[in-house]
Amino acid sequence: HADTAMYRAKDLGKNNCQFYTREMNATIERKLHMLEGLRNAVDEGQFQLVYQPKVDLRTGHVFGVEALVRWLHPEYGLLGPDRFIPLAEESGIIFALGEWVLQTACRQNQLWQEAGLSPLRISVNVSPRQFEEQRLVQRVAQALEESGLAPEWLELEVTEGVIMRDLQQAVAKMGELRAMGISLSIDDFGTGYSSLSALKSFPISTLKIDKSFVRDLGSNAGDEAIASSIIGLAHQLRLRVIAEGVETEEQRAFLRHNGCDEMQGYLFSRPLAPEQLRQLLLRQSPPDVARRQLAAAAA
Ligand code: C2E
Ligand code: MG
Ligand code: MG
Ligand code: MG
Repeated sequence: HADTAMYRAKDLGKNNCQFYTREMNATIERKLHMLEGLRNAVDEGQFQLVYQPKVDLRTGHVFGVEALVRWLHPEYGLLGPDRFIPLAEESGIIFALGEWVLQTACRQNQLWQEAGLSPLRISVNVSPRQFEEQRLVQRVAQALEESGLAPEWLELEVTEGVIMRDLQQAVAKMGELRAMGISLSIDDFGTGYSSLSALKSFPISTLKIDKSFVRDLGSNAGDEAIASSIIGLAHQLRLRVIAEGVETEEQRAFLRHNGCDEMQGYLFSRPLAPEQLRQLLLRQSPPDVARRQLAAAAA
């Protein structure tokens, strides 16, 4: 652990203020500890994916799921991505983790299809360093090939900030991914600062309204204006639009009334383990799909 020692020497070294040092020590110790754990977590099989349904707002039909990563930490229990994705990004572990997520999501989706469920599109989050990595396109191609999943059933969610860092390169990379047959969407739309003129050159299919604008729909006129503007903008650009973080009937009604296409949120379902999701889909399936699945299970 040479790098650990270096961190210590550099960050914990000559500090004159005792009080400050003790707090800093604790923070850095915890971070180093998390980092050490993170290095082995892929190999140790400590990551899990949960899947949150995406629903058509008009029909109520589940057409897709978003894969969301969790870390079952041996000491701290189940951790959400906000607790470790930044550290994984900073340390470069995101490459191995991201690859695991892609492979697992593709394999799971292929398994559902083979089990006879009606096909779903699976969405995978890609963070900044992952998107910028040279090998991303290759990694995606490999995940598809190894799982046998057809590209039309895979979508990548990318944030605005990622794209705007190097616009030309990002558009080129999006073009390559699109040419493979997968879909792209802009996540957390409205929280970043993508230029509206650039937006029209992105080969994307969907804008995802960030949940911060969804929370107060029904009570905050500003958020309502933002949400309905994003819906209008998306449709003008011939994109679909989905709202995340939909928790109440009131929010759903607003979105539906304003022409939003899709939604995702606790109102319909929390993120689910694979088996729970399968059960949910079976309940919504028309009888012939359910029968096909029973037949597949019996075979
Ligand atoms: P995101 O992609 O914007 O995902 C939406 C987040 O909102 C998820 O949090 C989801 O569980 C949560 N959510 C869903 N419905 C509701 C709702 O009705 N109300 C509220 N309050 N929250 C809701 P989660 O799972 O904690 O993920 C947080 C972020 O971590 C994600 O934001 C995404 O940016 C990142 N992330 C998750 N999985 C991965 C991954 O596999 N790779 C990478 N690079 N990032 C990931
Ligand atoms: Mg997302
Ligand atoms: Mg989002
Ligand atoms: Mg978000």
